[in-house]
Amino acid sequence: MRGNLIIISAPSGTGKTTILKRLFAEVKGVTFSVSHTTRGPRAGEKDGVDYYFVDQPTFQRLREDNEFLEWAEVHGNFYGTSRREVDRHLLQGLDVFLDIDVQGARQVREAAGGECFSIFIVPPSWEEQERRLTGRGTDSPETIRLRLLNARKEMQDAGLYDFLIVNDTVEQAVDTLRAIIIAQRSRTRRNPDGLPLILPGQ
Ligand code: ADP
Ligand code: 5GP
Repeated sequence: MRGNLIIISAPSGTGKTTILKRLFAEVKGVTFSVSHTTRGPRAGEKDGVDYYFVDQPTFQRLREDNEFLEWAEVHGNFYGTSRREVDRHLLQGLDVFLDIDVQGARQVREAAGGECFSIFIVPPSWEEQERRLTGRGTDSPETIRLRLLNARKEMQDAGLYDFLIVNDTVEQAVDTLRAIIIAQRSRTRRNPDGLPLILPGQ
């Protein structure tokens, strides 16, 4: 059976990467699509693991070759999801997480229709989000300012998502995310080819 396509978005610094890392260590059958970006790598980030780090002309070429399921300019850099990589994982029966922004989420909803579901993660407060972004120590004050500004705009799309998780503590957020994944795997409509489920005894 094909895996689920799961969109996950959050204002920068909310803790999405932290939550996903924890989930991947705990839950089987999940993976994520490695995006392409024109942003430079942060300390500790590896090419092909965290992102495919590419220059602008390469990104542009991939875009023109229709290699992206979706793409967007976010906080001044370009990001895109590889269509092939997503398909390959879904055909293997893996649930695939797309860690993408609200613009990308809109594109994937349109392309995939009912064949995907989406999760939005929010910080417990704006003050806490700023503390987390600053505490992470990976971005300049100017970048942090831009990301905080964008967060307010991104929040306006929260109502378009199927699920909302408040990242108060990592433990609670991961528990909720795990529960959502398990519930979605149990949906009756997830039979191959959309045929009705034939249950034992019927
Ligand atoms: P994102 O991927 O959403 O930009 P990160 O996962 O990089 O965010 O988290 C931003 C910072 O906040 C990191 O330093 C991380 O350790 C910290 N953090 C994440 N979740 C929590 C939490 N529930 N409570 C406190 N700090 C957190
Ligand atoms: P960061 O630079 O902090 O890794 O990511 C910044 C933002 O870009 C995050 O909101 C993240 O979800 C988003 N992002 C990462 N990869 C993609 C992608 O392939 N497409 C889109 N649309 N957004 C992405």
